[in-house]
Amino acid sequence: MIKVVHTIDEVRKQVKEWRQEGASVGLVPTMGYLHEGHQSLIKRSVEDNDKTVVSVFVNPMQFGPAEDLDSYPRDLNADTKLCEATGADLIFNPEPEEMYKEGFCSFVDMNGPTAELCGKSRPIHFRGVCTVVSKLFNIVTPDRAYFGQKDAQQLSVIKRMVTDLNVPVEIVGCPIVRENDGLAKSSRNTYLNEEERKAALILSKTIFMAQKLVEEGMKDANELISVMKKNIESEPLAKIDYVQVVDFDSITVKDTIGANTLIAMAVYIGKTRLIDNFIVSGN
Ligand code: AMP
Repeated sequence: MIKVVHTIDEVRKQVKEWRQEGASVGLVPTMGYLHEGHQSLIKRSVEDNDKTVVSVFVNPMQFGPAEDLDSYPRDLNADTKLCEATGADLIFNPEPEEMYKEGFCSFVDMNGPTAELCGKSRPIHFRGVCTVVSKLFNIVTPDRAYFGQKDAQQLSVIKRMVTDLNVPVEIVGCPIVRENDGLAKSSRNTYLNEEERKAALILSKTIFMAQKLVEEGMKDANELISVMKKNIESEPLAKIDYVQVVDFDSITVKDTIGANTLIAMAVYIGKTRLIDNFIVSGN
């Protein structure tokens, strides 16, 4: 039976017991409203580790003032069922006051890889992400932690953070899980009305088109970006935040597409901001 706890002390107590039994521990950090994308991370953690902790926390620190913190969807009952069915052992669902006690004023921040892509339009976002993920690592002390390639910049930033700060946690990246029609699964897809849901397909369609062009030999990043932008602009409900080509490890802009190149986009469909990407493998 899965346990749901709300305090840091309860997590520490449980993990201490597991450690005394010699168990390995995996952590899957989430903001809840779980879907098959999250579930793929949990599955992978259950395969790799004796115990799996899923954190469900809509982290106020990573939302800008005009963003969707208050409207972000929440359903702990459904999340608990999904976690239990997938074999997770513990859900950590703290209140913001538990994570950010009175007087809180310490942060984990990063330059470099946070400057491009989402970091441009969400300037405080990665400071919030790095801070909360550091806290979760210190609370749960996992052997491994699981992040989706859906949020490719976040995955890259977290890898960089554990390298730079010598955090003894192995970061495992997991592939993007999509709806049958191609749209990347996201808790934010629930914001879309019927018309917007159809329009949102422009993201995955453009990603698949770009993937094909790269497979066929396109190397010029700016050429690819302009074809992608043109394609997105053909959808009247879509408004581009960015389409960029960067190195996946450093998140620096690249002119030439090669191995480990990240092609990423953020697009508004109506008021909903959606992201999608692919990473070029091989040479
Ligand atoms: P979130 O709850 O949106 O913060 O996501 C929690 C974790 O699940 C992050 O590491 C995401 O990258 C990952 N994730 C979300 N959607 C997907 C998806 N469609 N495929 C794979 N991973 C995902």
